[in-house]
Amino acid sequence: MADKLPILDLKRSYAAVKDEIREALERVLESQAFILGREVRTFEEHVESYLEKGTAVGCASGTDALVLALMALDIGPGDEVVTTPYSFFATAGCIARLGATPVFADIDPATYNIDLKHAAAKFGPKTKAFLPVHLFGQMTPVEEIAGLCRERGIAVVEDAAQAFGSWRKVRQERSSRGSSEEGGIEEKIVRAGVMGDIGCYSFFPTKNLGACGDAGMVVAVDAELGKRVGKLRVHGEGAAYLHDEVGLNSRLDAMQAAILDVKFRHLEEWNAERRVLADRYRMFFGMKKLQEFVTLPAELDGNFHIYHQYVVRVPRRDELMARLEARGFSTRIYYPLPLHLQKCFAFLGYRPGDLPESERLSRESLALPLFVGLLPEEQEKLVDAIAEFFYEK
Ligand SMILES: *Cc1c(COP(=O)(O)O)cnc(C)c1O
Repeated sequence: MADKLPILDLKRSYAAVKDEIREALERVLESQAFILGREVRTFEEHVESYLEKGTAVGCASGTDALVLALMALDIGPGDEVVTTPYSFFATAGCIARLGATPVFADIDPATYNIDLKHAAAKFGPKTKAFLPVHLFGQMTPVEEIAGLCRERGIAVVEDAAQAFGSWRKVRQERSSRGSSEEGGIEEKIVRAGVMGDIGCYSFFPTKNLGACGDAGMVVAVDAELGKRVGKLRVHGEGAAYLHDEVGLNSRLDAMQAAILDVKFRHLEEWNAERRVLADRYRMFFGMKKLQEFVTLPAELDGNFHIYHQYVVRVPRRDELMARLEARGFSTRIYYPLPLHLQKCFAFLGYRPGDLPESERLSRESLALPLFVGLLPEEQEKLVDAIAEFFYEK
């Protein structure tokens, strides 16, 4: 183990793909074709077959993916979008940027994802979309609210920026092709991003599928909607230099697509490793009998959590964090201030205490290192240091 354990060490997983990435980059350089084109379409096709549905549109970032998705749904001034206050800023920023109003509903304290009952209670006549986040790699059980959204004409936009490859077992009515005997419930697996109408991914370098720069993707379940996103990504251009509407310049470039396509081949294996690391943390925390102090992340029934982040809840969080830092263990706070209390959203009129679960989590949450290549002894030493902190005195 090195002297210091960083929160994330990308060099370890890079080592496994270095040669493949260099080959891919060489190919792009030789082609001298850098924006969109074959490399991007190939990566999009691979994502489409992995997700088993939808039209994939590579774009410049996860933030742009959210903006493009909301634009394609015609969301703008006067519209409300119900979302979680406990996420990376872009989730709500993209709503406000389009002149629409983010409406925040509190979270489920066990999974850290939006509480669907609270969300449904916020649906009103101006609600145009519901924007759940699959936070830290665990899916929100979107199917529980999908029917209500459909009834009320509310689009479901998934922020899957932290959940590429995460999935969920969904129970649904068996499609009874003809035979009336064949009714009942069947289970099927749905991946993050294609549970609703449109899903958004980020390939920011620190994400579980990360580029070597900014990159993102929109996946629209409906092909027409996908086509619209594709146009919006290139200034709303239909035929060459003819513009049907005003869009963005938010293209994915060929180098990033080529790199992502290489890493994508390792994603299943890397996500599986993340789950092994999470299990191992659970084992070490159990061995140290820390249950009384440290609340480990809960996995919702049916979920394949990919532990994009491993976030625990602890008392005396800031003190613990400082102690760990002094011992050479980096941790992080995701997120220190919920979105409804951010200065830029003061005009929305939320006050401290309005969304108590998200406010409490922001005081207790602590992300521990969890990345591909993390060693068992590193995890063990970190858990030892946490045990020492809580058991002293
Ligand atoms: C990273 C992230 C985004 C934004 O992605 P960028 O590629 O950084 O623009 C949006 N939502 C969530 C939940 C994220 O974690």
